[in-house]
This record gives sequence, structure tokens and C-alpha cells, in this order.
Amino acid sequence: MNRERIIILGGGMAALTTAFELTSTPGWEDHYEVTVYQQGHRLGGKGASGRNHERFDRIEEHGLHLFYGFYDNAFSVMRRCYEELGRPAGAPLATLEDAFEPHSLIVFEEQFEGVWQHQPLLFPRNSEPPGLGRKVPTPAELIPIMLQFLLDLFDAQPALRGGSEARSRPLGVGLRVLRRGVAGLLASLRELVAAPAEDLVAVRREEVLRRLLAWSAAVFRRCERLLARQPEIRSAWAAVDITLAMVRGMIADGLTDHDDVDWLRLDHEDFRAWLRRHGASEASVRASTVSGVYAGAYSAGREIGAGTALHWTLRMLYTYRGAIFYKMQAGMGDVIFAPLYQVLRRRGVRFRFFHRVDKLRLSADRRRIASIEMGRQIAVKGGADYEPLFDVKGLPCWPSEPLYEQLVGGEALRASGESLEDWGSRFPDQEPPLVLEDGRDFDRVVLGVGLGVLPALCEELVADANNPRFAAMIREITTTPTVSAQLWIRDDLRATGWHLPSPVMIPYAEPLDTWADMSHLLPRESFPEPGGPQSIAYLTAAMDDDEPPPIERSAYVGHAARQLERVRALTAAHLDASVAHLWPAIVKPDGALDRSRLHAPASIDDPLAFQHFSPVQHPSDRYVLSPRGTTRHRLAADESGYENLVLAGDWTLTPMNLGCVEAATMSGIRAAQVLTGLPIPMHDDWLRGRPRAPASIPGPLYIERGVNESTSPPYDARSSVMVAALLRADPRRLRDLCARHLGLHEDRVYIPLGPSVVFYAQDNRLLSAIDAPGVVAERDFGFLVPVAICERRGGRLEPIAVGAYTPYLWVDLGAALVGGREVLGFPKGHADLGFDATATGRLALHVDAWLPPEGGGASTPWRHERIVEARDAGEGASETSLLDALRASHDAAWLGAAGLDARAQVKLLGLAAECLRTGAFTMVFLKQFRDAARREIACYQAIVEAPCRRIGAPRASARLPRPIELSVSRRSGLASTLGLVGEGSDERMRLRALAGFYMELDFTIGVGEVVAPRSSRASRALIA
Ligand SMILES: Cc1cc2nc3c(=O)[nH]c(=O)nc-3n(C[C@H](O)[C@H](O)[C@H](O)COP(=O)(O)OP(=O)(O)OC[C@H]3O[C@@H](n4cnc5c(N)ncnc54)[C@H](O)[C@@H]3O)c2cc1C
Repeated sequence: MNRERIIILGGGMAALTTAFELTSTPGWEDHYEVTVYQQGHRLGGKGASGRNHERFDRIEEHGLHLFYGFYDNAFSVMRRCYEELGRPAGAPLATLEDAFEPHSLIVFEEQFEGVWQHQPLLFPRNSEPPGLGRKVPTPAELIPIMLQFLLDLFDAQPALRGGSEARSRPLGVGLRVLRRGVAGLLASLRELVAAPAEDLVAVRREEVLRRLLAWSAAVFRRCERLLARQPEIRSAWAAVDITLAMVRGMIADGLTDHDDVDWLRLDHEDFRAWLRRHGASEASVRASTVSGVYAGAYSAGREIGAGTALHWTLRMLYTYRGAIFYKMQAGMGDVIFAPLYQVLRRRGVRFRFFHRVDKLRLSADRRRIASIEMGRQIAVKGGADYEPLFDVKGLPCWPSEPLYEQLVGGEALRASGESLEDWGSRFPDQEPPLVLEDGRDFDRVVLGVGLGVLPALCEELVADANNPRFAAMIREITTTPTVSAQLWIRDDLRATGWHLPSPVMIPYAEPLDTWADMSHLLPRESFPEPGGPQSIAYLTAAMDDDEPPPIERSAYVGHAARQLERVRALTAAHLDASVAHLWPAIVKPDGALDRSRLHAPASIDDPLAFQHFSPVQHPSDRYVLSPRGTTRHRLAADESGYENLVLAGDWTLTPMNLGCVEAATMSGIRAAQVLTGLPIPMHDDWLRGRPRAPASIPGPLYIERGVNESTSPPYDARSSVMVAALLRADPRRLRDLCARHLGLHEDRVYIPLGPSVVFYAQDNRLLSAIDAPGVVAERDFGFLVPVAICERRGGRLEPIAVGAYTPYLWVDLGAALVGGREVLGFPKGHADLGFDATATGRLALHVDAWLPPEGGGASTPWRHERIVEARDAGEGASETSLLDALRASHDAAWLGAAGLDARAQVKLLGLAAECLRTGAFTMVFLKQFRDAARREIACYQAIVEAPCRRIGAPRASARLPRPIELSVSRRSGLASTLGLVGEGSDERMRLRALAGFYMELDFTIGVGEVVAPRSSRASRALIA
């Protein structure tokens, strides 16, 4: 049987998870042949570690790595891997439980009046084993859990002071007040949020929000004086304040309304801004608990998308199994990548070390990856497979440097001092290049290298005008270098002057804002006893680029060496300036670390030089950031745009979207799902049902010309101001309009909801599209027909959504004219648009468009005419009752006559209520292009539906205080096509709106779906 040849480029967590899940499917070996290509001598990428045999087999990491207790997918992969590995009982790290030790103490650092203070928090444990996760609670279910967690957190703190005696010591007064308050709030809210799916309708939601806000204000008033005095209380208050802001935000932004949450929709806003918007105080937003989220994602001083950060925070705090953190009991390479390598190799996966991927080349039609060029860095003696692991105290480990004795010319490599993991290595390739070809050497490719190196490897893909999403992904998702240092200290933790238990500390002073005590690793290393180090400190943080990061290999030469010096200098400065607060017993009188307390052989002058520093050696190792507004540019595993290219990495679109092992694992599972077409389980896969771009592209490719191009959805509109006027319309005209424009599909029927249309005017200040950088300010004015979207099922009409059909739309910006028109089918015309509106004040809107002359000769010019004008009718103008307005917008009798039976109408009411509550509805377009030869036929015609969704709660939303009066040019044909009901002269129709609304909001219009295509042949037939 012909097996499909899958090649995996890179051997990080994502790539190896892909291989692991693919080869976990029954009978995989009958279907696939899997080969992993890896630059240099080891797997692991950003998580790689090595043993330095020359330096007592010490563990040298790329950076500090911890597992969070909520890593259900990563723990699940590793649990299955350890089970299959089957190490004998008593062997080092025989089981997952041996390999990961729970850790519960996080020490946050807070500056009060310029002085750092420890804010230790001991996170409560639970008895759930990691990696055997049950279902993740829905946001609504999380609310009581979040409040209960605060109580558990308060209760866990006395244990920090040690022993049972401390446990019985009463909490401080302030903490007691807070605790009592949270307990009361929990009791009163529990009932309100108990069955949120049905119960959190608008009224109840407002009630919960009101209570939460009132409660925060009252407690803050009561604790204010204590807060000023007791730093301990300030942190506790910040925890309460932030928790309540998250709860309020989740309710107000409608996250609690559904079990399936789209976290991406909050990502246009920074997490801190989101917390502020939902009532968190500035002090709390700046507190270390929030800064810790940023520092943990290497984003101190940067922004993170609110949805991504919120989802991460909720998972991290409220869904961990066992403990909040797990510390690996050896290097990450030893604990994760050696077992994965051993299991995969045993299963039959092939590994090609020392293979550096240099270029991916496209086929002539740019649909497939045609070839892959690789540099072969060095050969293995006798053409054998490289055996990458060696034994340290009974544990298979990766060495920090290659096992030279296996390599042809290994001694020359050693003598050169060059690293084959350095992207700019000066060591010349020892073997001729290798070119793998589509169909000959591979059938499908998994791109598992880090994001930072893609611009160099994927030049052709980035330049492919037919696949702008790939270029947008590379352009928008950013990375940062990191700084990491490991110190081996002669003193044990207590003797350094640190008086708390072994911590993970975050965020502390920059440039190395994170410290973890890793002394538990000493028994795994081979330092002499006595005389060896007694404790180990890992320090890490993000750093800024001090030079534009080189991309091409030739430009990278020397970069890693310069960065190594920089990391050394930053660490030295940090140890001079900032460690007295941590380790007061091992500093000199001036507060600088006494370097003689660092372990080093006597022969070394400066013991600091003996410690380990980790710069970014390779662009692939740069940490992937999640700034606001960028997750929408991520591509999922099956969205590369090329038929034979699958994506895997922490930079892809996953349910996590934040640089971490769990995200990498999830991306690997997704890649394996795409490769096999099997529903391989993924925990917390809230993206599962999301529509995705097809893997293979049907039809001819769109030819990009670079300028004047249409842009693609999703379109995000931020800071938009909108005025809408509900107008009475003739029902027969409306029905006729829907039938003529939208009657292309026998089984999909669009019925006007009532005898009314909406005139709307939008001032979109920041509008962006997926495939174009930046934003434009665009005004959109038009008419909407609210419709029930129904399917014909067994002779009945079944409503499936509430929609808005757009028969007319004007913009005032040339670029806006093409954007959306060509893709979704917005019927855009160009006009001068006047917009002057406030929620309470004056209203003046107009649409001035060019109209052809009525009659007249060939030389009669077109006229620029005011086709629509809207003003407020002024003080004292009589109002239409809201009931009348409602009747016109939703008419049961009219819907009945249109064929919707009672059951369908009840369902429709539910859909309409849902739409009002969530601000989500379907936009309906008639997309068409006129035939070149016969003007009466369309060469393309389709009905396109696209989801439109409000993002978050509107910033302002009000019914306008005074009626709106419209005047519409009759010559424009609008009044007759839409059936507008009004009065006035022959020239202009005057009409009074039934109701007018003002809103300030953000919204997004998603990818469209063609629900009723009609080929040119079919439309010709219809006309005939
Ligand atoms: C300093 C630091 C600390 C971190 N700490 C944590 C933590 O505590 N907890 C946590 O969960 N996450 C942490 N992360 C994030 C985590 O390490 C990453 O999210 C994860 O390892 C990414 O895995 P990946 O497979 O997507 O990419 P990578 O690990 O980058 O894998 C890419 C692979 O491709 C290979 N490769 C690259 N270029 C080529 C080429 N041209 N040819 C051949 N092979 C190539 C690389 O060598 C590597 O094997 C940290 C990251 C950093 C940088």
C-alpha cells in the first residue's frame, strides 16, 4: 500500500505533538510515513535544554519553563507518553508524577513608596490529577467558582506563616472584612447566576451588574483607610477588585450568555483597558497580580488582547488540576523531549538531525509547496542515524553540545567553537544541500518551525499575492527576544537571606523580572558533594531588540554572540542593583551580589562567567507575542492557503493563542486532526465549530495587483458612532423587493420582519480588514430591511436567523468603495456624507450623490443631488409611541400571511430577542456582476450571508430624544423601491421616523458564506 509521506519541519512541542497524535491513531503505519527534520543536534526549540558534561552535567535551559496545572492537553500527551515509555519502577522519572512536582507559592512583588515588598500568595491545591481534565466550566459556571476561589485563597494564606499554630491564627482585620464581604456577595449572587443560560436575560444581568458595582464601592469605602496602611490588604483588595471586574466584564460583554464563547472577539482591546472599562481601579490594574499575567507572557510594557489574556487567566486560576504550577524535575529536554523522542522513534518516526530548512518553494500555480531546500550541516559517521541522547545518573538527556564523536569532522566542529543551532553559524555545511520534492519525497508538509524564522524560509509564500493572509500573519504577529540566566549559588535558599519557602517570583525589577528557585534540580546534576552549589536560581524576562532583528542567515552572523554579551551585561547589572531585596545575606555592603557566593571552579576569576546565559540564537527561538488586534491574523493548522502545507506552532490560531507549551500542544493536535481527518480529542476546543477557510482553493486564483484591491473580512470597526431611524414602509413593496433580490434559492426564504425599513448612518473611525495593515476612517450610510431568514423544511418555513438585507449603501471614501463590495457584495455607491450627531443634541445627516439627468441630451451633465437628508424634528415635535414602532418592526399578522406558522413565530421572537441582547445578526447581500456583453444578465450572482457582531457592550446607546425627519429625493427611486411611506411634493418625500437610536460601539463583520450561487448559465436561463 502507498503510504502518504508526511514531513515535519522542526522538532518543538507543536511538531512533536503532531507526530505523537498522528502516530497514536490506530493503524497509522499503514497510512503514513513520518520524518522530522531538525536543525542542529536536539529537539525542543524554545523548550530545549541540554546537559553540560564539562560543567558537572548541569542543566542549561533556553529559559525558565514551568507547566501550569491547567495544561490539560500538554499533560495528557505527556501522561500517555510516559505510560508508553514504560520506564521500570525506581528508574529516574519513571512516571509523569515523578517528572512534575506541584508548586503553589507565587511571590508577587509590589513597590510601595519606592520600596519593594513581597506579596506571597499560596494557591490552594485540589485533588485532580493533571492531564485527566474534565470539561472546562462555561463562563457563567465560572462566576461562583471565581468568588469561592477568593475565599479559598484567603483561607490558604495563614499556612504560609507555617504550621498548624499559624493556621489557627486569625486573619488580619482587613482580610476578615474582605473575606466576609466576598462570602456575602457569593451567597447573594449564587442564586442569580445559578442557571445563567436561561436566567441571565437583560433585566437579571443588569441587576447582577448593579449589585456587583454597589458592592465594590461599599467595600472599598469600608477598607479605604486600612488599604492605605496595610500593604497586605492592598494586594488582597486588588485580587478582589480584579476578580469583580472580570465578572462584570464577562456578564456585560455577554460572555456568560452562551456556553460557546468566542474569546477572540475581545482581542481588539488591551486586557488592562478591558479591566478598566469594567470598573477595576487604576491601582488594581497596575498591581502585581495583573502585571504578573503580562510578565508571564513576556509582555511587560506591552499590550495583550483582552480575550486571550482573560481566557488564559480564567483557565490558569480557576481550572488548574492539583496545583497552579508544576516544576519539572530535570531539564525540559530531559522531561519532555527525550521521552517524546524515544516513544516516537520506537513507533517508527524517523528523525533527521542537522538538517536546516532554508526555503519552501511554491508550485507554478501557487497551490502547493513544490520543494523544500535544506542545508545538511554535518554527516553522521557510517551514514548511521544520529543517537542524540546520553545518560546522566540513569536519565536519558540531551547534551548541550552535539555528541561530536558520532559526527564526520566532529572534532573540527568542536574546535571551531561554532554552534549548529546558531542561525548565523559560520561553520560551513559539510554535505551538499538537499532538495525535497512534492510527490517524490513528500506528500504533505507540517511547518513546525518558530514564527521568527518564517520570513526567511517562506519568502515566496509571503510574496504570494494570492495568499495575502499568510503575509498578514507574518506582518502582524510579533515576537520578542528573551533574556535568561541560571545561577548556581554556594548557599542554600535560607542562607541567602530569603525567608519564605521556595518561590516562583513575578513580576520583580527589570531587566530580569522573574525568578524561580530551582534548587530541587541539584540532585539531577553531578556537582561534587560537599563543595558544590546549594541552590539554583533561574532568572528570565523579555527584552527589547537593540538592533533590527536579522532574518536572513547571512545577516545573522555574529548576532547570537552579540546577544550573549548583552544578556551577560544585563544579568550583571541586575545582580548589582536588584538582588539585595531577595538574598540580603549574600550581597556586599553596597547591595550588589557578592559574586564569590556563586559556584565556580577556583581557576575562574569571575564566578559570574561560569553561570549559564541564554540569548536567542535563532529567530525561531523568539517568544511569540499576542498583542491586541493580532489574533485575527493567526492562521489555523488548515489555513495555510496551500493544499499540502499544514501549520503547527504556538503562533497558529488555537484555543489558547498565547506563547506557551499548551498552545503549542493544541496546535500539534489540530495539525494531526487536519492530517488524519479524525476527531482526535482536544480539551477546551472552543474554536471547534468555527468556520475556516478551505484547505484547497476551488476555482481560479484571484489575481492581486497590489493597489486598488478589495479587502477581505473580517472587518473590524472600532469607535463607531451610529444613528438609525426606523421608517414605515409599504409591506407589498418590501415583500416584492425581497423576492426579486433574494429569491435565488428555493429552500432559503427571506421575509421582511414587518412593514418597516431602517435608514442608518455610521461614522466608523477605525475600520480595518484582515489583509491590509492599518485602519481607515469610513462613513457608511444606507438602508436595511430587517428580515427573517428561513429554511423550507418539509413544507414549513423554519426561521434560522434574524438578518438585515442591505439594498442601498453609500460611502465617501474611494478605498471603501471596493472594500467589501467585491468580496461580500455590499452594494456600495459613492456619495458626500454629512454626519453630525450626538446622543442628546442636534442631528443633521445627508447623502449627496451624483445622479444621471432625467432626459436631456447626450451632453447634459449629471447632477449632484441631496438624495437623503435627516434632521431632528425639533422641540415639541410629536413622538411615535414605542409600541407603534415595535409593531412596525415586527408584525405577527404580516409574518403569518407570509407563511410563518405559530411555532415558527415563537422561534423567531426568541431569535429577535437574542439578536437585540447580543448585538449579533446576519447581514444579507445580493452580490452580482453585470455581464460584459448583455447588460440585462448577470455573469455572477449570489446571495451572501455574513455574521455581524457587536464587540462588547455599546459605549453609549439611547433612543434619540426627539423624532427624526427625513427627506428623500423621489428621483433617486429609493422611495418607490423601498416602499417608503411619507408625504410631500413630487420632488421630495418627507417622512417622520417611527423611532431613532444613537449608539457608540465596536463591531465586526465576519467571513461571508455563499448561500445561493447562480452561475451565468442559470441566470441566462432564468431571463430566457
Ligand atoms: C524564554 C522562554 C520561556 C518560556 N517559558 C514558558 C513556560 O514557563 N511555560 C510555558 O508553557 N511556555 C513557556 N514558553 C513558551 C514555550 O516554550 C513555547 O510556546 C513552545 O515551546 C513553542 O513550541 P513550538 O513547537 O511552537 O515552537 P518551537 O519550540 O520554537 O519549535 C520550533 C522547532 O523548529 C526548529 N527549527 C527552527 N528553524 C528551523 C530550521 N530552519 N530548520 C530546521 N528546524 C528548525 C527548532 O529548532 C525547533 O525544534 C517560554 C518561551 C521562552 C522563549
